[in-house]
Amino acid sequence: MDALKKAVGVLLPAMRISLALVMLSICLLFAAEMLGFMPDRSKFMLESRKQVSEALAIQFSTIAPDQDPHRIERMLNALIKRSPDILSAGIRLQNNQLIFQVNDHVKEWADYDSQKSTSTHLVVPIFRDSEKWGDIEFKFAPIAGESASDFLEHPSFKMAIFFLVVGFFIYLAFMLRTLKVLDPSAVIPERVNAAFDTLAEGVIIIDEHEQIVLVNDAFLKKIASPTSALLGKKASQLEWKSAEDSTTDVYLPWQTVLKTGKSSIGAHLKLTSPDNDTFKFVINASPILSGNDAPQGVLITLDDITEIEERNTKLQIMVSKLEESQAQVKEQNKELHFLATRDSLTGCLNRRAFNELFEKAFADALQNNLELCCIMVDIDHFKRVNDNYGHATGDVIIKLLAEILTNNTRKIDLVGRYGGEEFCVVLPGLSVDEAITVAERIRLRIKSESVARYETGPWVTASLGVASILDKPEDPSELNKFADEALYVAKESGRNRVVRWQLQNEFAEKVKTAPEPAEKNLPAPQPEAAKAADDCYHQ
Ligand code: GH3
Ligand code: MG
Ligand code: MG
Repeated sequence: MDALKKAVGVLLPAMRISLALVMLSICLLFAAEMLGFMPDRSKFMLESRKQVSEALAIQFSTIAPDQDPHRIERMLNALIKRSPDILSAGIRLQNNQLIFQVNDHVKEWADYDSQKSTSTHLVVPIFRDSEKWGDIEFKFAPIAGESASDFLEHPSFKMAIFFLVVGFFIYLAFMLRTLKVLDPSAVIPERVNAAFDTLAEGVIIIDEHEQIVLVNDAFLKKIASPTSALLGKKASQLEWKSAEDSTTDVYLPWQTVLKTGKSSIGAHLKLTSPDNDTFKFVINASPILSGNDAPQGVLITLDDITEIEERNTKLQIMVSKLEESQAQVKEQNKELHFLATRDSLTGCLNRRAFNELFEKAFADALQNNLELCCIMVDIDHFKRVNDNYGHATGDVIIKLLAEILTNNTRKIDLVGRYGGEEFCVVLPGLSVDEAITVAERIRLRIKSESVARYETGPWVTASLGVASILDKPEDPSELNKFADEALYVAKESGRNRVVRWQLQNEFAEKVKTAPEPAEKNLPAPQPEAAKAADDCYHQ
């Protein structure tokens, strides 16, 4: 069906052009005839009739027609026989007497109505002794095409008919052959076309002038264009854009292939179809080489990646959204973890989380044979703060203690709220002396900060108990117990002091006699102790 359509599509224009050429030729013929470039047959015949008649007249004048009329009659008979053009002949004397005739001349000559010769009636005078003796009359057949009724016999008309019939078919054959030569698609055999049509990816073949000579079905369907709209068109005339959407400097790979004769692989180009659909193609272009290795065309394959690109873009959007929500979840988990592991009032580790981390730090210290110390801290006479300044102020003091503990320990240290205004600090890697220095610094800071912050109180002090892993506790809770025992001794021995666990008994003895300082007359911080504490501070 397609082949038939294609054949009709070529035949009709060829017929129209052939007919126009025929008409043009006929017009030229008539024009040439009118301008006198063509020989006038009737004129020629008339002239030859005249010459024949004159020759006869001369001949008859010399043979004395009145003396030998039979001879003249014989001559005329012979002449008429040989010249079918002559219908009749007769010799008429001066007195209008017809002395003899051939072929019923009287009847044939009846339509002669003038004294002058015409193309059908020729009168030639015969002279004898330079005197006119008579006339010889010839009736000729009319010259073909001279009369209106005889138009069909006119040679020009016959030629026009000849041109119309024969010329038309000759021109048609010539046109079909010419169109075939000019038709770019004709250079590709039909079976090659059919083979390319079976491919799923688009295929274009261009000649050395970039003119498209083949487009396969896949590409045509994609851009919804008819073959005729593309064949003969330059490939670069299509609406190409670079894949990055910049309209300038579009790299067309087949142009490079035509220049260099080398293949181009994997170029990305966008193409806008006549329906304004945009496609993205991966384009490979290979040269079609002639005998001397010069590129005489390019085979271009176009792999449509529009859908894949769209999916990739969607996928990328999804991935980034996923990453975003993952980050949010991570952040929320972090917050949840913080809430689950922290004390709500102070932000320090809650007891459960503290114990977990303490277990781990204790195990690490044992495994790596490192020191680890534990400090128990408790505010002195805190009930009085609550009683005298209110529970809310008590909370502020607890937060102050937490702040001081955090600021005066390292990030790897554990600060946990054990309960009420009682905190536990674990210092991995520190010797007991270093831990005592830290504890001392904390003690001094608590008093100095409360004095600095609250002009009228509450001014608070704290007691601290220190124990080390070198005191050989069995587990973290025993180390904690050692520190708590030391704290107890610190309380018992007058508060606002640091007591090391091993020295608890010695302390206990010493403080038995020492008076407990009044809250309002807190001892001023010892500068030496504070300095030592500062030196030991690790951030
Ligand atoms: P000591 O010097 O012997 O430690 O005397 P103290 O008065 O500080 O005694 P203790 O440590 O036993 O006091 C604990 C008090 O802390 C009891 C309770 O009223 C108070 N407390 C416990 N938790 C909170 C809290 O979250 N906020 C406030 N404001 N007070 C608390
Ligand atoms: Mg207390
Ligand atoms: Mg307490």
